[in-house]
Amino acid sequence: MREAGSASSREWFRVLAESSRDIVLVRDVDGVLSYCSPAVWASLGHRPEDLEGTNERELIHPVDLQIRDALISQLLNTKVAQPAAELRLRTKSGEWRWFETIDTNCLENPAVQGIVTNARDVTERKAAEVELIELSLHDALTGLPNRLLVMDRLTIALARAVRANDLVAVMFCDLDAFKVVNDSIGHEGGDRVLVEIARRFTQALRHCDTVARTGGDEFVVVCEGLSSVEDATAVAAHIRAVVEEPIAFDDFEASISVSIGIVTVVGFEAETADPMILLRNADAAMYRAKQGGKARWALFDEALINAATHRRELEPELRRALEAHEFVLHYQPVYDLTDDTIVGVEALLRWDNPTRGLLPPDDFIGLAEETGLIVPIGIWVLAESCAQMRRWDRELSWPGWISVNLSARQLAEPGLASAINEILAASDLRPELLRLELTETALLRAGHSAAVELAAVRGLGVHIGMDDFGTGYATLTNLQQLPIDFLKIDRSFVITLKHGANARDHGNAIVAAIAQIGQTLDLETIAEGVETEEQAELLREFGCPFGQGFQFARPAPSHEITRLLTRPNGLPLARNGAHPFPGSSTERVLCPTAGYQRRGHPEPAVD
Ligand code: C2E
Ligand code: CA
Ligand code: CA
Repeated sequence: MREAGSASSREWFRVLAESSRDIVLVRDVDGVLSYCSPAVWASLGHRPEDLEGTNERELIHPVDLQIRDALISQLLNTKVAQPAAELRLRTKSGEWRWFETIDTNCLENPAVQGIVTNARDVTERKAAEVELIELSLHDALTGLPNRLLVMDRLTIALARAVRANDLVAVMFCDLDAFKVVNDSIGHEGGDRVLVEIARRFTQALRHCDTVARTGGDEFVVVCEGLSSVEDATAVAAHIRAVVEEPIAFDDFEASISVSIGIVTVVGFEAETADPMILLRNADAAMYRAKQGGKARWALFDEALINAATHRRELEPELRRALEAHEFVLHYQPVYDLTDDTIVGVEALLRWDNPTRGLLPPDDFIGLAEETGLIVPIGIWVLAESCAQMRRWDRELSWPGWISVNLSARQLAEPGLASAINEILAASDLRPELLRLELTETALLRAGHSAAVELAAVRGLGVHIGMDDFGTGYATLTNLQQLPIDFLKIDRSFVITLKHGANARDHGNAIVAAIAQIGQTLDLETIAEGVETEEQAELLREFGCPFGQGFQFARPAPSHEITRLLTRPNGLPLARNGAHPFPGSSTERVLCPTAGYQRRGHPEPAVD
């Protein structure tokens, strides 16, 4: 460029280059700089004359050199202007700044005789972009990676696992009952808890692991470089332990547990593993952990896929089921074991799903609790039960009671007592005719406000009982302190009752002890799931006054119960094991063991 070309066009080029705030560089085919515009001084701190004669490679970030070389060789081959590129140039003080470059091939232009590079400083824009990307990949509250980023990390981890032939684990972690925390300490408090939990997750994991917050109270963990499934479960156990340590702030305390679903992939599978499917499977395993009683981890297995699909399909349906009047109640009579009369009925919820048939509560109550739908559903159950009880009371003058199952979630909802009061008034039912059953675990975990609510309900005259007694950790002291009137002995104990078993035999001893406790504490005891006459006899022997179970009657629609209540002694079964509802085989009676049953399906034989 120095001597070739006409002086005027050379001058024109120089004026153009020097008046620009962009850097203008001219280089030869090898990269040796023949011209640098004065802007290199302002932008990079180099004097133009110091750079001229050197190779531009010394200015360019090593990582960007490859792209630079590719672009230049393309430019030389095609002679057309190349699209803008971005690369980093070194300042005099050794920092890197980002430039957007445009190259023009002027090798044959006599006034230039080189490749002209126009470089504009875009460092600020680049920083903003990086920040934006960071933001879009992270959760604003906790600063943890978000779903997008963790999926990306998972993809990279899988590729690495193929090479290293080790194991990757994906864990779907969902805090248990976080809604309750939010409800009790407000969203701001909830946020503080989440930030603390996020910190604990990070602390519990190694540097190469990733933890992301993927939803309200959902976290996803990706662990790489593991050697066995046991490594993964050990990490899960560790996460559980750190999350479950009590959280104490100045103004409140919280204690949180977490349910974890784990899926692992070994190197050779990682090649074909789909990150989305892995995450979905971990989610399914997490759901299994929740169903297993929360605060635990579960490993994914193929059988879970079906359950997960089932559940996803079910949720929107469940949402509209209430409006569509698809819920129905069946009632199971409770008998006085001494004279075989019906003393009460337990209302048991079923979902008459238009495509799946009659679904048992175990198929949807868990989902209803998680989604909070159990609250309006529970209100419906109460209203329907009270209305039905009022009809039996008025039309048959039946002196019994109706018992309704309540989930822990309903107890956590404020205003339960006033809702029940309204329902009683609306159905004109005397409170003494209504009973509520809460599981042992629900009663024991009930916080202060729930206990107050429960006491208020009991204050109305409604009787409260402990369901599934024996499966939790209630102590005698608990039993004395809780505002309860009756105990239901869990079916798992009743099932083990056996004649001739010695006194230390587990089942017999437990049932006898519970019956004894009931008498001592003046709590009525009701045995659930009585399936044989032998069990009924032993219950009488041990002093348990009441029982319900297939031995006496299965849960059935109200009209069946009406028929039963109008029989002389309310006991159609006699002792011959005949089915209490002989005509019901094509009616909507639930099969207790099968998942659910289509309408009109014959009920399997019992006994
Ligand atoms: P649960 O309260 O322990 O109800 C007793 C369950 O045992 C019922 O199952 C009943 O059909 C079944 N059962 C009764 N006798 C026998 C027997 O002799 N043998 C066997 N194997 N089973 C017997 P179901 O109706 O499927 O209800 C399951 C659970 O769903 C209930 O257990 C209760 O926890 C829950 N649930 C039912 N209705 C409601 C409701 O309205 N609200 C809430 N929150 N939960 C409900
Ligand atoms: Ca119950
Ligand atoms: Ca029960």
